[in-house]
Amino acid sequence: MYKLRSEHISQRLFLSMIIIIFSLLFLSVPLIVSSYQSYKKADRALTEISALRAVADLANKVSRERAPANKVMSSTPEELAKNLQELQAHRKEVDIQIDQTIQILNAAGFSAQVRGLSSNLKVTLQQGRQAVDAYAALPRSERTSKQLDDAIKKMFTAWDSCHDILKNVLVHSVGKGTSASESYTLILILADLRDQAGRIASNVIASVTFAEKIPEDNLARSLQTQHQANYLWGLVNTIQPEQGKTPEYLALHQKVKTQFLDKGIPIVAGLINESLHHQRYSLTGTQLTEAMVDKFVTVVNLQTYILDYSVSVAQNEKNQAQQQFIITLLVAIICLVTACFTMIYARNGVFKPLLKAKNAILRLAQHKVADSEFDELSNDPVTLLQAIKKLKCVLQQRDALEFQLRNIANTDNLTGVPNRLALDEYIKYLEKKPEKFTQTALIIFDIDDFKQVNDTFGHIVGDEVIRLVAEKLQFCVRTSDLIVRYGGDEFLVLIEQADFQDAWVVANKILKEIGGSELYIAEINQNIQISVSAGVAVGAASWMALLEKADKSLFQAKENGKNKVAG
Ligand code: GH3
Ligand code: MG
Repeated sequence: MYKLRSEHISQRLFLSMIIIIFSLLFLSVPLIVSSYQSYKKADRALTEISALRAVADLANKVSRERAPANKVMSSTPEELAKNLQELQAHRKEVDIQIDQTIQILNAAGFSAQVRGLSSNLKVTLQQGRQAVDAYAALPRSERTSKQLDDAIKKMFTAWDSCHDILKNVLVHSVGKGTSASESYTLILILADLRDQAGRIASNVIASVTFAEKIPEDNLARSLQTQHQANYLWGLVNTIQPEQGKTPEYLALHQKVKTQFLDKGIPIVAGLINESLHHQRYSLTGTQLTEAMVDKFVTVVNLQTYILDYSVSVAQNEKNQAQQQFIITLLVAIICLVTACFTMIYARNGVFKPLLKAKNAILRLAQHKVADSEFDELSNDPVTLLQAIKKLKCVLQQRDALEFQLRNIANTDNLTGVPNRLALDEYIKYLEKKPEKFTQTALIIFDIDDFKQVNDTFGHIVGDEVIRLVAEKLQFCVRTSDLIVRYGGDEFLVLIEQADFQDAWVVANKILKEIGGSELYIAEINQNIQISVSAGVAVGAASWMALLEKADKSLFQAKENGKNKVAG
């Protein structure tokens, strides 16, 4: 029965444990999931920004290919071989970059953009290169500025498809909203700026090479691109986040301004001016290309810096998110483990000992409690408090029993007054304060000629006489006074805080009460005349001295003829 109840409590404990663990899981799982998602997002942002950097690098390389291509197309026969070599080397570099970019895009899951690279960029670049090669292969006499301009435009088309892929990667990025993504637009703008810069020169290069007047169309395009470049430049500083404006950024930014905007664009503007004023161009096509290449590098450097900076921001964000995820996971695990240990400890260290204690108390109580009570107890779940209550009840019953037993032991069974055992205890109490003996009165009563009563009427009548004498004594003294049957036909009366006079009065009152009338004895249906003698003593150094004094007085009373008080 108890085992069953203990199992009940264990089950409840187990249930509470499950509830606590589930509550912890309920709190920690969403936290873990959200920090894991943040980590995955940061990881994705890093992958995307790396892919973006690869495509931006490729776009720059494709854009830059126009410089050696232009140089080849505007070379003098002496320069041609050297410039062709430079162009071939650059093309190889671009091809390698295309392959690497395809790999990076594939790994980042940008498969549609990879298809764009393979189908558009490769094809348009091929067409551009073919146009460049075809133009370079023409004898100089057969070349026209229109053909040169067409070949340049075809190379622009190759860059356009590259730029489309860059935009496409940005559009399909899921890492938007992360710190790294703040640079996405800027990267696109700088790529555009780099391209516009290229176009500024490319629009006039054919006319400059052929020392012809710049056609209206190209003039308009060149002015438009100049305007576009200035507009994009204005955007760059607005878009760059304040925290991204590091000293390196500011230095690179300044260089774009001083090199590209302040020096590069005015070169083209000067050539346009020369064309408009029908002056001789101050530069050849090759010289123009070489002069401009340096200026573009500043834009590319700024873009590269921003890309690298964005990659490091993304890397940091990923590391932080990873750390946060690990910490969340660890804290959740620690909480769960602590909860489990606490519950196990509570069960083994607290509840089990309490259950044991309860059962021990109940077993202890079981020895004392009546079976019926115990059965009643067993019907309900017993708590430790109930067990203690039960034990308290049992202990109270035992105390009452003990009290009764002590009472029985201290009472004379014939008369019902205290016996010598009770007197001994009272003396022990008095001896703790010896000065009490000086204020205590002791009267010894002895029935006169009691042997005769026994001899004449028998012991039963004798007992009855003793009982009746005790009754009279009880009747004559206060309840605070102590009556003791000292033995046989002898009684003591102890009165505290009494002087001799008081004791004398009490003794005489008792003598009169007993001796003043005959006692009716029911057993023999007749009256008997009896008397008692009393010895009075008040104040002594010890109990024995007081008793001796009173005993002597009693002897004196008997000597004086009985039915007397002596003191
Ligand atoms: P005295 O006047 O000198 O006291 O003479 P006495 O006959 O009373 O002599 P004593 O007091 O010495 O005798 C007491 C007698 O009481 C002796 C004993 O047989 C008797 N006795 C003692 N205890 C009991 C008792 O419990 N019941 C009865 N019936 N008799 C008892
Ligand atoms: Mg006597």
